[in-house]
Amino acid sequence: MDQRAALFGIKNLGDAISRWKSGQNRRPKKKRRKNRQAYSTDPNTVKVIWKRIKLPKIGWVRMYQKLRHKGEITKVTISRTAHRWFVSITVDTGTPNAPRDTRGLPAIGIDVGINSLATLDTGKQYDNPRPLKKYEKKLRREQRKLSKKEYLSNNWFKQKRKVERIHYKIACIRNDAHHKATTEIVDMASVIGIETLKITNMLKNKNLAKALSDSALGGFLALLKSKAEVLGIPIVEAPQFYASSKTCSHCGHKKKELLLSERTYNCRECGSSIDRDVNAAINLKTLAVGQTER
Ligand SMILES: [Zn+2]
Repeated sequence: MDQRAALFGIKNLGDAISRWKSGQNRRPKKKRRKNRQAYSTDPNTVKVIWKRIKLPKIGWVRMYQKLRHKGEITKVTISRTAHRWFVSITVDTGTPNAPRDTRGLPAIGIDVGINSLATLDTGKQYDNPRPLKKYEKKLRREQRKLSKKEYLSNNWFKQKRKVERIHYKIACIRNDAHHKATTEIVDMASVIGIETLKITNMLKNKNLAKALSDSALGGFLALLKSKAEVLGIPIVEAPQFYASSKTCSHCGHKKKELLLSERTYNCRECGSSIDRDVNAAINLKTLAVGQTER
């Protein structure tokens, strides 16, 4: 068993080298202690029984939870985050997911943003979780301390572990909020309309840039897409330059200018007055309905 596990690593290195030689990848790098610690192992050498996993060289290790899917194990990756060990197991269940019956469910438009994570056309809002702010302050403080330690010294590694833990905590809070929101949304929709994030444009605006990367909107939409795909729910992405915010969801009039500070959309043409994000979400819903009917 152990020998096979070692061969797996050598085979991977061989693959990496031939990808490098053919110009597909860069030269493989030696793993360093300061980088992310992770490795993949031969799935044939791994055994999983209930909440325990047997890894080559290491032996039986307890897991936090049991494997949720039955089937052939096709990939096993062991990694370390914030001084904790994780194992990621890919399972081929052999049965494709059946699309969900969504008859009777409405189409839903979603506007994602910085003020609230997501706003639906129904007016429902999902907030960006609040604890993030507190941890971000702490993170900055600990990062400053890290920058003052001697690079790669024992104290530097100790401090780095602290920083990693806070990063991990922030990621957990964010993931939790994203998972809760996306599961709820895919459970109540037959079609979902979203915008195409123009991240590069938005990053040009310095004030927006930080807030944006904080709320990780791209990750939110990616999660939503993957969950919708599993359930067979179509997702309609608005074209890159579709003005979901500037268009009136009631009469279709398009404003030339809409300041970020204008939280309410007031239409000069039809006189309707509506929350800015809800207006955008309704437009995205209308677009999604139109596209799927066609
Ligand atoms: Zn109007």
